[in-house]
Amino acid sequence: MPALLDLHGRPLRNLRVSVTDRCNLRCAYCMPEEEYRWLPREDVLRFGELSAIVDAFCLLGVDKVRITGGEPLLRRELERFVEQLARRPALKDLALTTNGLLLAQQAPALAAAGLHRVTVSLDTLREPVFEQLTRRKGLADVLAGIDAAARHWPGRVKLDTVVMRGVNDGEIDALLEFARERGVELRYIEYMDVGGATQWSMEQVVPRAELLERLAQRFGPIEPLHEDSSAPAERFRLSDGTLFGVIASTTAPFCGKCDRSRLTADGTWYLCLYARLGLNLKALLRGGTSTEEIAERIRTVWSGRSDRGAEERLAERERGPLLDAQMLRDDPRLEMHTRGG
Ligand code: SAM
Ligand code: SF4
Ligand code: SF4
Repeated sequence: MPALLDLHGRPLRNLRVSVTDRCNLRCAYCMPEEEYRWLPREDVLRFGELSAIVDAFCLLGVDKVRITGGEPLLRRELERFVEQLARRPALKDLALTTNGLLLAQQAPALAAAGLHRVTVSLDTLREPVFEQLTRRKGLADVLAGIDAAARHWPGRVKLDTVVMRGVNDGEIDALLEFARERGVELRYIEYMDVGGATQWSMEQVVPRAELLERLAQRFGPIEPLHEDSSAPAERFRLSDGTLFGVIASTTAPFCGKCDRSRLTADGTWYLCLYARLGLNLKALLRGGTSTEEIAERIRTVWSGRSDRGAEERLAERERGPLLDAQMLRDDPRLEMHTRGG
């Protein structure tokens, strides 16, 4: 089957599936508000329904699925969903992104269910900073989760760090050393002005160029790896062989290669992290539409896709938060924690 391409020639390969909009942290860059409006429980799709939608995507060439949230480990019996997806031969890559709080407990069941790899978000190694950044306690649990992940998925664990100036940018060296000691790959993410980031400002972004300069001062020469991949991270190597990545979504977006789209826990499909409107696949599914017909709808929409959200943001002169708190309350699907990051 020829690859399904959008208007910029980008294939549909990568689907991020959010299994819940709930979270047990309140990261400053994602959920800074006091109150949130949650998706109605009856709208949240059951695992069988999510799997049916994934099947429709697989018919069109999706071969990578990342389970996300909110915090996906809050979804009860997540391993049952992993087991369902792991049985799909079309899926070459089945990953999970988690904040790690509950990972030590759940890693054995998730690994047994067939999860291929794990990314843990880790922004700091200092408990007071963790509490300030997430408004919750629990760094020790996250670190235990990372150790459990390294045991269950050796060589297949990544750490994601959102760098915020004045909050955790003093720890960029320590975080890389931490990752190196455990044999896991760290990726620095520029703080993005996405929905949810209502406190965002350009001053708090540490651009890739500055980050690399600061790392070079500490670790010596850094070699860029010139890889031909659709992955968002550019990868680099220290002289001792340590690999790390930088996701420069804010200062050097990579929309031209973007093969990703996102499904919320209530079955709304978004073609871009910055998109205001999505396609309601739950209505199709619960209305009795077959997997093949859903795939046809997806095909039509992806064929007309022209989204380049982050690149369009780059062109804006006076850049502030994308959305304000009221807009997010009016439509919680615009939230990063609903859309899955
Ligand atoms: N709760 C899980 C976690 O934190 O890993 C999964 C969902 S979270 C929305 C997915 C990713 O989005 C996390 O790695 C998080 O750091 C990232 N993220 C959220 N808001 C962001 C922002 N404003 N800028 C950059 N990355 C952000
Ligand atoms: Fe933090 Fe992830 Fe929760 Fe957002 S969804 S508040 S990034 S842990
Ligand atoms: Fe893809 Fe949109 Fe992100 Fe650009 S902004 S990389 S098009 S999801």
